Amino acid sequence: MKERKRATIYSTAQAPFSHATFQFRIKMPIFIAREWFRHTVGITRNEVSRRYVTDEPEFFTPAEWRSKAEHVKQGSGEAIDAPAKLREITNVYNKAIEKCVKAYETLLNCGVCPEQARMVLPQSMMTEFIETGSLYAYARIWRLRTDPHAQKEIQHYAAQVGEEIKKVCPVSWAALTNVALSSSSQSRTPATHPNSLCSTPRVRLLRAATKYHCDDPAKPHDRDGG
Ligand SMILES: Cc1cc2nc3c(=O)[nH]c(=O)nc-3n(C[C@H](O)[C@H](O)[C@H](O)COP(=O)(O)OP(=O)(O)OC[C@H]3O[C@@H](n4cnc5c(N)ncnc54)[C@H](O)[C@@H]3O)c2cc1C
Repeated sequence: MKERKRATIYSTAQAPFSHATFQFRIKMPIFIAREWFRHTVGITRNEVSRRYVTDEPEFFTPAEWRSKAEHVKQGSGEAIDAPAKLREITNVYNKAIEKCVKAYETLLNCGVCPEQARMVLPQSMMTEFIETGSLYAYARIWRLRTDPHAQKEIQHYAAQVGEEIKKVCPVSWAALTNVALSSSSQSRTPATHPNSLCSTPRVRLLRAATKYHCDDPAKPHDRDGG
């Protein structure tokens, strides 16, 4: 089947793509999870709760610090590369986190419950969740969040989810994301991989259920049900 025809079928007959599901274990900072969790249709999540977890919290360290964007309300500009400035920024950031952790521990030591003590923890704290979503929903997230207007950090996560799904069903993924099969999704993949932002993998595919399979390019698919 010609690539274009196949893409048309995929873009008009969407229901089959809601049967295939993927399950991920994802670790991301809270400020990105807030954005990620805005995607709700076709997605289910369970998150580790700091209402009962009192382990030492983990924090996100950005791979780069970016300047303010010049002509747009949202977004960011170039990476800051002046060494003295970077040292100052890193120092301020690390100190702020240190203070928050100290306050958190002090509150716990004073007998405050974890669900309230967590109020002093910053948005850069890592959170972890298991997420199950349909292929169709992930394609929507990928399209919205690898867009250059999306925050860079969330672009990395969306790109990696896409990379994992692409390994399982490259044909469907290419059609749903409008990326030619011969090319990789690199055209919209940011330079930095999310796993390179931190020392341990942050996006892990747990399970792919693609039994209702529509990824054989040789076979046209039933389109019953109009
Ligand atoms: C670059 C970027 C910038 C953003 N900036 C902001 C911002 O400044 N402030 C902010 O609050 N949010 C912002 N968002 C979040 C955005 O508004 C959406 O909430 C988010 O992208 C989730 O979209 P979704 O289509 O996956 O939503 P879902 O809620 O998962 O919905 C999926 C789809 O279902 C349909 N749908 C869902 N609900 C309804 C409904 N009530 N009626 C009809 N159809 C429905 C729509 O087709 C929708 O696309 C931004 C998102 C992006 C990508």
